[in-house]
Amino acid sequence: MKVIRTVSELRYFLSTHSNSAIGFVPTMGNLHAGHLNLVQWARKENEIIVVSIFVNPTQFDDPHDFQIYPRTLEEDLHQLEAHYVNYVFCPRVEEMYPIWPDSITFQVGELGRYWCGAYRPGHFNGVVQVVAKLFNLVQPRRAYFGEKDFQQLRIIEEFVKAYHYQIEIVRCPTIREEDGLAMSSRNRHLTPEERKQAIVLYRVLSKLNEYAKEGMQVKQLIAQVMPLLEEYPLFRLQYLGVADSFTLRPIEILRKKNQPRAMIAGFIGKTRLIDNMSLNL
Ligand code: AMP
Repeated sequence: MKVIRTVSELRYFLSTHSNSAIGFVPTMGNLHAGHLNLVQWARKENEIIVVSIFVNPTQFDDPHDFQIYPRTLEEDLHQLEAHYVNYVFCPRVEEMYPIWPDSITFQVGELGRYWCGAYRPGHFNGVVQVVAKLFNLVQPRRAYFGEKDFQQLRIIEEFVKAYHYQIEIVRCPTIREEDGLAMSSRNRHLTPEERKQAIVLYRVLSKLNEYAKEGMQVKQLIAQVMPLLEEYPLFRLQYLGVADSFTLRPIEILRKKNQPRAMIAGFIGKTRLIDNMSLNL
């Protein structure tokens, strides 16, 4: 496994694989089983695997959140080596942003309007900005993204289509802890008591899924799970709703044709957690 820190080195090494299928897994590091699952999927379908580890400053709407984001490069590299990754690209900020700030940026439209987009101004613009740079550098055949960040995944799918990237975006399922909490680098910030209460997101989504029926009003469905939130006083709900899984628009009535997906976000202490689940009608 080769660890690469500069754009010129990356270009040099990848030029020796111009006829190979490259599978790419972009990450911000502090790797867990969710990330490693993406790597495993990539390993099955491609000859060369590139993983990037880059905490991208432009997607953080809160500078403090950027500062405290867990950075564990040595551990991450050990894990990637054990998963037969060929190249790890872990550039410095100046390498990715030779001009700071970029004078040309992206503006995510409709898909970025709801859910996290409504609470994290500029976040998805920053995600697309860094993904565009990474895709241009790595030029993968396939790129792997987790359903854990469903809105991000949909935006990247749309981005690739709109800008004619010849890259297949592969959706990978959310990997969870035993009690259902979706794995996330941010879970590290939780105190033991907060960690216990963090299962509220999964519990709410599971209950919604259990009660969901074709033709039902979303308002009525949500009213049924609201009492559950009272059992978790450390949790401050930011949003809870159901999205059309293609347009991401909030829907009012559950219909199979919308492939409805329940979306939830909130804070436990200072840590913001998100999760989502496809509803089986
Ligand atoms: P991040 O390092 O948080 O930017 O995530 C990098 C990639 O890993 C993104 O495509 C995420 O959606 C994906 N990912 C993060 N957590 C999980 C998880 N628990 N299950 C599946 N994919 C995940």
